[in-house]
Amino acid sequence: MLAAAALVLAATLSPWTPGTLDIHQISTGRGNAALCVFPDGTTMLVDAGAAADGQPMADTEPRPNASKRTGEWIADYVKQMGVERLDYAVLTHFHSDHMGQVTAASPASASGAYKRTGISDVAALVPIGSLIDRGYTYLEPDDAQFKNYEAFAKEHGSEALRVGRNDQIVLKREPAKYPAFEVRNVAANGVMWTGKGESTTTIFPALDQLAAEDKPSENMCSIGLRIRYGKFDWFTGGDMPGVPDAGAPEWQSVENAVAKAIGPTDVHVVNHHGSIDPESAFFLATLRSTVIVLPAWSATHPSQDSLKRMMTQRLYPGPHDIFATLVREPTKISIGSRAGQLKADHGHIVIRVAPGGESYQVFVLDDSTPERAVLATFGPYAAK
Ligand SMILES: [Zn+2]
Repeated sequence: MLAAAALVLAATLSPWTPGTLDIHQISTGRGNAALCVFPDGTTMLVDAGAAADGQPMADTEPRPNASKRTGEWIADYVKQMGVERLDYAVLTHFHSDHMGQVTAASPASASGAYKRTGISDVAALVPIGSLIDRGYTYLEPDDAQFKNYEAFAKEHGSEALRVGRNDQIVLKREPAKYPAFEVRNVAANGVMWTGKGESTTTIFPALDQLAAEDKPSENMCSIGLRIRYGKFDWFTGGDMPGVPDAGAPEWQSVENAVAKAIGPTDVHVVNHHGSIDPESAFFLATLRSTVIVLPAWSATHPSQDSLKRMMTQRLYPGPHDIFATLVREPTKISIGSRAGQLKADHGHIVIRVAPGGESYQVFVLDDSTPERAVLATFGPYAAK
């Protein structure tokens, strides 16, 4: 019996240790959520999606199962990883698969001011320090999901991302010990870091000069963040597009402006779940990511076209190891043989960066049970 218990223990992810940077892309089946544990133990959640929270939805059953709402599962994951407090929570943009969706299953908050779903559900279970979003002054959405979030944010307190800065999201515990660590605010609302100092540029034309059909979408307004630790770089950009719709203006390729700002990167999270409009050739060829984390949850993730761009050796040589949180069975049939070339087609994808940032490993954790056993380990990869 002892031997069996030891085996079970060995199959779970070893705990985070000081000096290490862990980034978990959590598989919920209902949207994006990433838990980051910085080298000094400062913690950050990026998104807490909960599309159709607590309710059935075709081809998008929640992971690991439907016994809890998605925000409850995210909190369960966070606590399992030994995190009792989130110093930061960042919402890339105001869509339900990134912040939560009010449904008949959403309970009222303690104050009654809003319903608990997604990020507000997580906040009821794990204390959240700074809540950061893209702000409320640019193309504010006019829908029930946003209004619910706004009521939560008003009660909790929130701040808008300050693009270009590296001093808004910082190490809270031992900053002096890890001078090679930085979180850079790269993009939000079409304001783009230039890659130099704290300077920014605006890539969206003035709204009063745009036809209604050309106005920036909510996805285009997504926040982009880069985490740097020594040589290691990681990027996440919500649902920002890279390939404009046919006939649409070129400035709508938010990814291309990001690529110019950040340059070569070790690991990036695929934008817009690898749907039809992200992962432009220029973005991929500029970042040259060795590891690509695909936050897929719906049957439209990824599209054949974007996966083909991610995989082609014509854009850059060397490994392009792609790890997906959840590729649905109909999607695999539709994608064909490329689905079999993914390093993972389901699971929580954990990037574990060694102290100092010289190398990193990838762990795939089982997303079908709450035990979250390690299914596979990849690397170490050398950081660029
Ligand atoms: Zn999304």
